[in-house]
Amino acid sequence: MTTQTSAHTVMQRCDILGGFSEEPDCLTRPFASRAMRQANEAVAGWMRAAGMTVQQDKLGNLIGRYEAHSIGTKTLLLGSHLDTVRNAGKYDGPLGVMVALACIERLHACQQRLPFAIEVLGFADEEGLRYQRAYLGSKAVTGTFDREMLGLIDAKGITMAEAIRAFGGDPDSLPSARWQPDELLGYCEVHIEQGPVLEALDLAVGVVSAIAGQNRISVCFTGEAGHTGTVPMALRRDALCAAAEFVLSVEALARSVPGLVATVGQMAVQPGVSNVIAAQVTLSLDVRHRDDTQREQACRQLEGRAHAIGLTRSVALNWQRLQGRRVVACAPQLSGLLAQAIQETAHPLHTLPSGAGHDAAILADLTEVAMLFVRCRGGISHHPAEAVSTEDVEVAITVLERFLHLLCEREGHP
Ligand SMILES: [Zn+2]
Repeated sequence: MTTQTSAHTVMQRCDILGGFSEEPDCLTRPFASRAMRQANEAVAGWMRAAGMTVQQDKLGNLIGRYEAHSIGTKTLLLGSHLDTVRNAGKYDGPLGVMVALACIERLHACQQRLPFAIEVLGFADEEGLRYQRAYLGSKAVTGTFDREMLGLIDAKGITMAEAIRAFGGDPDSLPSARWQPDELLGYCEVHIEQGPVLEALDLAVGVVSAIAGQNRISVCFTGEAGHTGTVPMALRRDALCAAAEFVLSVEALARSVPGLVATVGQMAVQPGVSNVIAAQVTLSLDVRHRDDTQREQACRQLEGRAHAIGLTRSVALNWQRLQGRRVVACAPQLSGLLAQAIQETAHPLHTLPSGAGHDAAILADLTEVAMLFVRCRGGISHHPAEAVSTEDVEVAITVLERFLHLLCEREGHP
């Protein structure tokens, strides 16, 4: 089996997984959905064929285990997520699982066992599409899952606990982590870059230095509904005007602080009628920076700005912090092995930070993490136009394979 053949298989499998969707005309695969079940079943079949034992954990994560040549050894975790955003591309998430699986397949084909076990994880939720909370899968694996989330409801009124049960999981026994840190060698994730840097440098892959911190905040402005023809402008408490002013403040602040990115990507207007003044607007706020202090400072400034807008307009404000993640540095030793693998396979080495969040950021609570980015066309992601080349996937397989080899040497392969 050549690496080229393996790369073609990875591309075909990403195509197959891209067909498992909750929507007929685009790819949308939320947590614990029918489409996710189809994806897990397909990947489980490929894992078994590659000599792995397969289980679905209590949250719904898919776990394939490839045993070491002897018992009582440590375990290396590989993988990424199998859920998607709405109207997604085929590679964000699944590519990392498929590249890891390809490496196991290649070991299995020559009956090779390593001095450590490998588990390939297909996380059931990273994007947070269904419950507006990201990283459910990796949080379950690391034992940092917040049980209060089980009561959250989705758009159809189904609680997270019900969804997990319907998917074959067990919400009652979630919080316990499976692993002790000393049983693990680390976690290595292959992922599309989701940005334009590697393409601009004409590089197939790059090593991630750190994963940017991120805050997700729900901002709600509540004013008063009224007839658009009868309520004079001076007497209005228009929630949408307050929200609009806030959105532009977010942009203005982010433009003025180097390295800060802040986005309002979602807005719900109530009652949402053309001849009624908006009574309530709920919007999402996403704030990221490579520096934790700068990120927190920006959030405080924006909260102050939202309060000021509310006061001026007699509109009430509800500021709810949904999620906050610190900057996560990738582990120097494990990343060093990835870097060495890139150089030994005759590719130029480039190290870059990740502006997007990843499962690796959560796994860092449990073990050392490293990430390999793969170039994606135009830096586009979270969109059907997301694309990677078979040649770049082949490089990713070659590098991950070399990485496993270097880890074997480090762990004292005979
Ligand atoms: Zn992803």
